[in-house]
Order: sequence, then C-alpha cells, then structure tokens
Amino acid sequence: MPTTVILGAGIIGLSTAHSLTLLAPPEHRIHLVEPAPELFASASGKAAGFVAKDWFAPAIAPLGNLSFDLHRALADKHNGRARWGFSESISYSLDHDDSLSTTSADDPTDPSDTTAGDTKGGGGGEPERASIDGQNVDDQIPVSGRNGSQGQGGLDWLLNNVSRATVVEGDVVEKAQSESTGANDGDDLPHWLRAKPEALQLISDRKSTAQVLPRQLCEFLLEQCLAAGVTLHQPARATKVWRDEHDPAAVTRIRVEYLGPLAQTSDGRARTVDIPCDSIVIAAGCWTPQVYTTLFPNANRIPRITHLAGYSVTFKSKYWPPVRLPANREALKGSAPNPPAPSGPGAATTTSSSVSALVQSNVCHAIFTNAGGFAPEIFSRANGDVWLGGLNPASTQLPELPTDATLDPGEIERLLAVGRALCGEDIDLRTEGLCFRPVSVTGRPIITRLHEADLGDGAKPGGHDGAGGVYVATGHGPWGISLSLGTGRVVSEMVLGRETSADVSALMKW
Ligand SMILES: Cc1cc2nc3c(=O)[nH]c(=O)nc-3n(C[C@H](O)[C@H](O)[C@H](O)COP(=O)(O)OP(=O)(O)OC[C@H]3O[C@@H](n4cnc5c(N)ncnc54)[C@H](O)[C@@H]3O)c2cc1C
Repeated sequence: MPTTVILGAGIIGLSTAHSLTLLAPPEHRIHLVEPAPELFASASGKAAGFVAKDWFAPAIAPLGNLSFDLHRALADKHNGRARWGFSESISYSLDHDDSLSTTSADDPTDPSDTTAGDTKGGGGGEPERASIDGQNVDDQIPVSGRNGSQGQGGLDWLLNNVSRATVVEGDVVEKAQSESTGANDGDDLPHWLRAKPEALQLISDRKSTAQVLPRQLCEFLLEQCLAAGVTLHQPARATKVWRDEHDPAAVTRIRVEYLGPLAQTSDGRARTVDIPCDSIVIAAGCWTPQVYTTLFPNANRIPRITHLAGYSVTFKSKYWPPVRLPANREALKGSAPNPPAPSGPGAATTTSSSVSALVQSNVCHAIFTNAGGFAPEIFSRANGDVWLGGLNPASTQLPELPTDATLDPGEIERLLAVGRALCGEDIDLRTEGLCFRPVSVTGRPIITRLHEADLGDGAKPGGHDGAGGVYVATGHGPWGISLSLGTGRVVSEMVLGRETSADVSALMKW
C-alpha cells in the first residue's frame, strides 16, 4: 500500500497532505508528523495572510499563478469567506509623511459625509506630521517593479528591510490603476487608516490580490485531511529511516517517536511507531536542515535554509470593519425589513433611518508604508482584525520549536506605536506574535525530489516508476501562505509520479 509521510504540519505540509487526499488513490496512506505541542504556532499560523497572483519573479510566477487560482477555487467550494476569512484585497502604498488625517471630526464612517471615500479628511486643515519614534518619515514606498529591487527570488526587499510592495511590476500597478475608475472605488478605500486618499497609491486590485486568515486556513486543511483519513502524529518527531538489512525484501520504514505527554508507554518505554513508507516529504520550514540531517546523517548535500524572524500584532480598530452606504441610499430606504446590526464603529454616529442601508464592505486592504524606521505592512482582514508587521530583526535566533519563541516586548511596542499613529490611539491589541520565515540561499522556494546520491548511503525510500522517494518543500520566505496550495499540488503530483500543474523546474535547483 503506497504510503507518504510528511514531516511538518505548517501550511506547506498541510497543503501537500490535503492535495494528496484529493489526487491519490484511496489506498494511499498519508501521515503527518509534527513535534510542536501546539499546532500552527509557526509562521503558518501567525502570518499576515496576504495572497498575490502576479507579484513573483519569473522562476516562481507559474507557481504563484496556480496557487492563487487554487486559493480562489478552494474558497468558492468551501465558503472560504466564512471559514478562513478569504476575501479579495486591494493594495496601496502609503506615503506616510503625507498621510495622517487632521482631526477626529473626520470620522470616516459618518454617513452624513457624502464625500467619504473620495476625500477622507477633506474638511481641510493641515495634516499632522507623521512622527513615530521621534522620526519623520519622508520616503514614499518605491514601486519599482522587477527591475528595481526584486532580484532573483523576490526577497531583496525583505532583506533590505523595505516592503514587499517594491516587487510589484510597473505594468501590474498601471493595470490596477487604469481599472480603478469604478463607482465603488471610494467605498473600497481603507477608511480605517488615518491617511489622506492622496497619500495612497493603488498598486494592485481585487482581481490579483486576496487576504486569508492563515491559522483558520490551516485548521480547515487539517480538518479536511483528518476527515479523509490522514494520520496526524503530534507531538512527535521522526528519528530515523531504516530497513532490515537481513531481509532483501524489506521495505523502508521511518521511525516516529512521540513527545511530551505521549512520550512513554504505560510501562515506561519510549513510544515509537515504525511506518513503512514509499515517500517522505520534508516540509519543516526553518527546521528542514535539522530534520534532513537527522534522517540522512551521511547526506552529501543539505538544503541550505536559514530563518528570518518577524514580529506582528493584531488589533481591533473602531473603523474596521467599516459600515458603508450604497451609492443610492434613497433606493434602499425601507427596503430592508431586517437590517443587519451595524458592527462597525460608525454605528454610534449613524442615524436610525440610514441603519437599514448599511452594508459590510467585502474587500480587505493591504497597506505598505515606511514608518518607525522600518517598512510596516498592514492588512485589514475579514474577521475584523487589523494585522501589522514588518519588523524583522535579522539577529533573532531560531528556537528549537515554534512554541519556544520568546517575544521582545520592545519590538511589540514599536509595532504598536506605528499602529496607533496610523490607526488611532484607541486600537485594541488582540494578539502578539513572533515567527520565522524559511529562507533559502537563492531566495526561492525549494520544491524538489532529491537524488538518491545526495542522501548518502543510509536507508531511504527509493520510489519506483517515477513515483515516491524523498522530497523537500520549503524556503517560501515571505510567500508561503500565498504559494501554499500550489506547492501542495505540485509536490503531491511529484509524489504520485505525475506531470506537475505548474512549471517548478527553476525551484528544483538548490
Ligand atoms: C511575520 C510574517 C508574516 C508573513 N506574512 C505572509 C503573508 O502575508 N503572505 C504569505 O504568503 N506568506 C507570509 N509569510 C510567510 C509564511 O508564513 C511562510 O512562508 C510559511 O508559513 C512557511 O510555511 P511552512 O509550512 O514551510 O513552515 P512553518 O509554518 O514554519 O511550519 C513548519 C512546521 O515544521 C515543524 N517542525 C519543526 N521541527 C520539525 C521536525 N523535526 N519534524 C517535523 N516537523 C518539524 C514546525 O513545528 C512547524 O509546525 C509571513 C511570515 C512571517 C514570519
């Protein structure tokens, strides 16, 4: 019976398991092994959840495209909006220096302000100067496109501490801007941001960017996997690959050792299970090199994966989610016998006659800016949160497990200072996070079947008829959520010996 063991239950391991449940014949067994005592404590559960279709370098572009389509299709099929906050998203770069609105009087949700959406803060007055950590920030995010700072793998922006907005192609921006003259554009502005519309530059439209809640997406994928018969071993780790030397017909097995409360049997022995396997997929994010060297101690080559830490906070803003008026308010008067209760802060300032006309906005936002000496990325999400990150200290050490990460309160304060400057003093902190992006030396993901020769002379699943063997899927850096479903698809196709749905040949070099 064909069996695949996937090491790592982050979004890449989960997407692979999920795709295998859809593509493999029913007798194909799938195991997921995860050592952390808490699921989704890694980047896969804490990321912003921004998803893009065409923000990638040529080597990654086919995968980005496939993945974006799969995100949409999955959300359409399983009500992704309700289950993991899937939403179209509009992206802007924000010239922060010119951005702050003037007074609290320009409440963006005030329905009596018929200019809302066109001229937030249009009541006049000089904007406050942006000053965060005592610094005035003058730079507008450069939207330079591929020839600017994207480099080989699209990671230069991250390592140079600027925003991912710098990788957007000039033609993508132009296209978004030329198509942005629709009647709803004003309504789609990020009114929760203390920014003047003229400080916002549209860089991508709702057709090419989206937003998800990564943790909820992981939960959904896992739920689907378990329902399809995938076995989850957690907390547990794989300790060796072995085969009975004396039995020429013996199959290769992987030993999985349980951890934590499951570590010992009732008679005090280590609890282990040996799983016969045809395929091993290493999808352990930043921990991939450790997994690899544990299982293949004599390997000639080791996938070179480092890590880049990222701090984040999520908070509630009283202006997100917005309440907004449809273009023709009169037409709606009296037409909604059971109006939805307005959940946004605008409810407080809304007249009762207009309540019936309030509708929730459908679109989320991605904001890229410069502030506080770094390049904040801010995302409004469909569950009513705002996610803020972009503080990526290069010196932060990788913990033994994602659950061992220790936050520096000073970094959280830096993020919150930016959050207050951009979203108001009264933001309500919900979560704080520190997690780690897996980064390869090329800046591109590594998605490949390994050559047996590279694995050294120990036991290994060899595969047959083009299917099976040892695979690595990692190094997605700042794009693992976006590229997850496509990665899962192509890895599962490789495992099954099929042609891949996207050309990932450039990602097989490592
Ligand atoms: C602050 C921040 C914001 C981000 N925002 C976005 C975004 O908006 N959009 C986007 O596309 N991407 C984003 N990313 C990137 C994205 O989160 C990552 O690329 C992605 O989560 C990587 O997924 P993964 O499954 O490879 O790794 P991980 O999520 O790290 O999962 C690896 C798993 O392997 C497990 N593991 C550890 N040791 C072992 C072992 N010995 N055996 C088996 N398993 C092991 C870990 O416990 C973990 O569960 C962001 C990242 C950060 C840090």
